[in-house]
Amino acid sequence: MINLVGASIPRSGHHLLERMLRSVFGPRLHYCEYYNIPDCCRSIPCKTGGFDVVFQKSHDFDFNLPIILSDSVLYIVQYREPIETVLSDRELFCKSNPGSEINRFNYLIFLADHIIYNKRFYKKWITSQMVNSIHVRYEELVGNPVAVIQSILVRMQLSSYVDISSDKVLSNLQVGDDMSKYKKKNYSSYKQFDRNLISQYESIFYREISGVTYPMKFSDILVSTDELDSVLFQREVLLQQMESLQN
Ligand SMILES: [Zn+2]
Repeated sequence: MINLVGASIPRSGHHLLERMLRSVFGPRLHYCEYYNIPDCCRSIPCKTGGFDVVFQKSHDFDFNLPIILSDSVLYIVQYREPIETVLSDRELFCKSNPGSEINRFNYLIFLADHIIYNKRFYKKWITSQMVNSIHVRYEELVGNPVAVIQSILVRMQLSSYVDISSDKVLSNLQVGDDMSKYKKKNYSSYKQFDRNLISQYESIFYREISGVTYPMKFSDILVSTDELDSVLFQREVLLQQMESLQN
């Protein structure tokens, strides 16, 4: 059995990849979602047996997801262009937390927490160059799903055993879902787009996080980051206090 352990930043296409892998492996794949309590085993790797492939979900919010160096574990690290990621996540957040869209301080905290999370995620999963991981960028998954699935199969050493060239699999990968809804949007089409706040976010994101390979989008805008920086400082202090209480 091969354990595919997903370490993904929210909104970077985990469930899209899940649907694609289901269409490739069918009933030979078991999906284990860590966040839904009744669903499966809440352990990594998954304890369920009897399948060829297990795919698990984790956003590693508390950074406790273990790094297991075993031949049977392949980490699938998913991420996306930073501004798209945060706008998409903010949109989702505001849908489930009505009223927060008009609260600027709530937005500042949201952005600060994203910077703290991304900084840790990049360090642990993206720039660490783990040997048993494969990186799947959202843009590649949406733009060329067949190539992404093929590269995962190569890393699983299954490329000569699993045929994805059938019309059924290909149609599932490419048009089974309406891929157009995953394609790039204009930032301004997000209701949550605030040019000043997002420019502050980008400026601090690239200053704090090394190894970001996406180009900056608002580098031409000179913006003072004092407002978000002060909230970021407060959130970092709070996080340190909470973590020292837990230890
Ligand atoms: Zn499980």
